[in-house]
Amino acid sequence: MKVDIYDKIMNLANKYEEDVIKIRRDIHMHPELSFQEVRTSEIVAKKLEELGIEVQREIGKTGVVGILKGRNPEKVIALRADMDALPLQEINDLPFKSINDGIMHACGHDCHTANLLGVAMILSELKDELTGTVKFIFQPAEENGGGGREMVKEGVLENPKVDAILGLHVGSMPLGVVGMGYGAISAYSDKFTLRVKGKKAHTSMPQQGVDAIVIAANIITALQSILSRQISPFETATFSLGQINGGTAPNIVPDMIEIVGMMRCVSKEARETIKTKIEKISKSVAEGMDGDCEFIFKEGYPSVINDKELTDLVKETTCERYEAIKDKIGLNVPQNFDIKNLIKVIDKPMLGSEDFGFYAQKIPASFIFVGSGDSAPPHNSKFMVDEKVFKLTLNILASAAVKYLND
Ligand SMILES: [Zn+2]
Ligand SMILES: [Zn+2]
Repeated sequence: MKVDIYDKIMNLANKYEEDVIKIRRDIHMHPELSFQEVRTSEIVAKKLEELGIEVQREIGKTGVVGILKGRNPEKVIALRADMDALPLQEINDLPFKSINDGIMHACGHDCHTANLLGVAMILSELKDELTGTVKFIFQPAEENGGGGREMVKEGVLENPKVDAILGLHVGSMPLGVVGMGYGAISAYSDKFTLRVKGKKAHTSMPQQGVDAIVIAANIITALQSILSRQISPFETATFSLGQINGGTAPNIVPDMIEIVGMMRCVSKEARETIKTKIEKISKSVAEGMDGDCEFIFKEGYPSVINDKELTDLVKETTCERYEAIKDKIGLNVPQNFDIKNLIKVIDKPMLGSEDFGFYAQKIPASFIFVGSGDSAPPHNSKFMVDEKVFKLTLNILASAAVKYLND
């Protein structure tokens, strides 16, 4: 009987699972912050070279790219993992607990990196059966700084030109639940600063100054009407003023207040409206009160938009592979198992951000979530991943890539 390529992937996933766990624990123990992933990217590059995969280093500072060419290398799929950790003290009791003080892999990026290396191990053995090219993207700085933006800027989607990209995130859902969504699944997130300027005076003679605190108070109140009056009630959008600083003494009319906020929107249009209105209202309120206001916008991550066709392909692959491996992966699959119950369709975008959006802006993309147990939410000192999740993530990612190329 001919063993099909997906069964081969399953066997190879079993073969390499232990190696993947070993790599994951090593990376977990030595977490590195955004754009400082020197040790991690060295592990990645070395392993890819060992597998005979063409390697490019220092793309987007500390990023690594691997290129695996199959039989007809024209069609190209990219698979992306992020490598950075968070400035957080781990309080889990693990034999491979972080040894870097105040730094922790609390978002599962150690798993994403190890998993993608595992997929590289699997696919490099199946090279002769691949009808296309797989580009492995190991990016820095998802948490802080937009490593995805840097890699795209440095041409990671070109030479060879990438036709589609897949990514996944492990996280706090019951082990084995797969979350998928169509269209926008995460939000644009942008930071802005308002610098309100007035004129100093003694508080006994306020008429000689321009009180920046009073102007700021009016601006803060006026901005609240943007969401209720300028944005459609059907639109998913919000912003908050999370920080305010200024003033020097109780008896001085202050001349400078700084307000820092964050906006999160799903559509480009809402983002543009909110951005323009914040600037316009703040400036006109300040001017009307004889002060001034400077608006500084710092572009964050764009929404992740999941391509319909590509997401269907991932969904179909997930269903097929789940059915095939369910008895072999030791997940607590319910008696009357139905894969449909394990795939959670995300119908509302989360308002968090994910820098996979930088790729999804350019080419068809699909990003999924795979439950790795719900110990604690991500970005928490107690975040933990059930490593059984690799049984699923190795199979899903490798199989979806092959399906895309070979279909
Ligand atoms: Zn995170
Ligand atoms: Zn993350």
